[in-house]
This record gives sequence, C-alpha cells and structure tokens, in this order.
Amino acid sequence: MEKREKMYEGKAKVLFATDDEHQVIQYFKDDATAFNGVKRGSIEDKGVVNNLVSSRLMEILGLVGIPTHFISRLNEREQLVRRVDIVPLEVVVRNVVAGSMAKRLGREEGEPLVRPVVELYYKADKLDDPLVTLDHVEVFGWADDHEMSTIIELAHRINDILLGFFANIGIRLVDYKLEFGRLIQSPHTLVLADEISPDSCRLWDMKTGEKLDKDRFRRDLGGVAEAYREVARRMGLS
Ligand code: UDP
Repeated sequence: MEKREKMYEGKAKVLFATDDEHQVIQYFKDDATAFNGVKRGSIEDKGVVNNLVSSRLMEILGLVGIPTHFISRLNEREQLVRRVDIVPLEVVVRNVVAGSMAKRLGREEGEPLVRPVVELYYKADKLDDPLVTLDHVEVFGWADDHEMSTIIELAHRINDILLGFFANIGIRLVDYKLEFGRLIQSPHTLVLADEISPDSCRLWDMKTGEKLDKDRFRRDLGGVAEAYREVARRMGLS
C-alpha cells in the first residue's frame, strides 16, 4: 500500500489517499480544539494515544460484530481505514448527564440516566452542530429511515460493549460521540467511522470521579496529556 496526496485536513486528523481508491490513511495530530474551534491548543502526544486507543476500541468492536471502517494501525500516528461517505450527523450516546445535556436541560452533571440516551446533531460548523430530530434527518435527506434504524441500533450495541469494557478498567463511560459512514465500495453498507478516543468521550475514574478526557482541556483543568496516557495505560497499551 502506498501513501498518496492529502485529501482532507480536519481539526484533529488528516486523511491521505492511498493507491487503493477504497482505502485511506487517517493521521492523528496533537492539535486540540474546543467550543467549535474557539479554543485552540496542542496536547503532547495526543495523536499517538488517540491512534492507539481508537485502533484498539475499533478492533474490539469489530471482533464482536460491529461493522467499522478500521483496517489496521500502520504506525504511531496513522491507521488504514476503509473510505466512506460520512453521514453528516454526530451521534452522541449518553449514560450519565454531562456537558451540553446538563446545560440545556438544567440537570446536575453526574446524574445517571435510567437508560442510555442517543442524540443526533447535524454536522455543520457554521451552525455550531445543532441538535436535530429524526424528522429533520429524513426531510433534509441526511440519511434514510433504514440507515437511521441501523445507526441507532448500532449505537446501542456499541454502548453495551463499551460500557462493560471501560467498567472493567475502572472507568465510567459518561458519554461519547460516534460517526457513521457509507462504504465507498458498497454504499448500502453503513460502518462506524472516525474515532473513539478521550477526544470524543467523557471518561471518569470510577472511584475518584477524576476526568480522563478532553474536558481537562476544555475546562483548563491541567494534566491533559497525563489523563489521555492514563486511559491508554489502563487499556494495556503503554
Ligand atoms: N463530542 C465530540 N465532538 C463534538 C461534540 C461532542 O466528540 O463536536 C463528544 C464530547 O466529547 C462528549 C459527548 O460528545 O463526550 C457529548 O458532548 P456534549 O453534547 O455534552 O457537548 P460539549 O460538552 O462538547 O459541548
């Protein structure tokens, strides 16, 4: 496999083409942004840790039958993934009240939810990724009915697996964001794409409640790189 031109550069990752039109390389940067790019910075070795963590989580999900874009980790900062057409939705799964849910609904951060809640946000930086309903998704044609049933079912299955996985290493999986895509090679096949890492999850130490995720950066709590490394360490990755 040969690495070719840069196709796209996002806030935390860069995509490169390869000599196979159906496969791309995902490169993980150390750049960190929050509040839709208003806060910017860099977290030492974040790209390395997120590549490791996300590769392992995608591998585990793949092993239990969740279709994902992940093929293999190539080196410290790169992974080979199947090329997809991204569904323009951020699928947020919540087990505990935090972040925007706490603010929007006036609830206390840390309140456990009686069952997981799946929320959909329209991926549009200019609009600050607004919360949308299934009706919006359908009438604006971002995904069809069948795709949305698949996405929501996958989100719940992924949550069951990840909740147990993190609980096993003493971490409370509070909430996280998923993205799905249609395989370029087979547009009717939906797969989990993007990444699952401390950038896109809220992870709290089960005993102390300590935050081991990007909220340390968002809220200027310090120890950001150490927290990311701690997640990798507990996963047996360093
Ligand atoms: N999230 C993300 N990217 C986004 C928005 C949210 O990865 O653009 C993740 C975030 O890290 C958290 C979950 O999705 O784990 C829920 O985020 P929330 O809606 O509470 O938004 P935020 O706190 O980022 O305003």
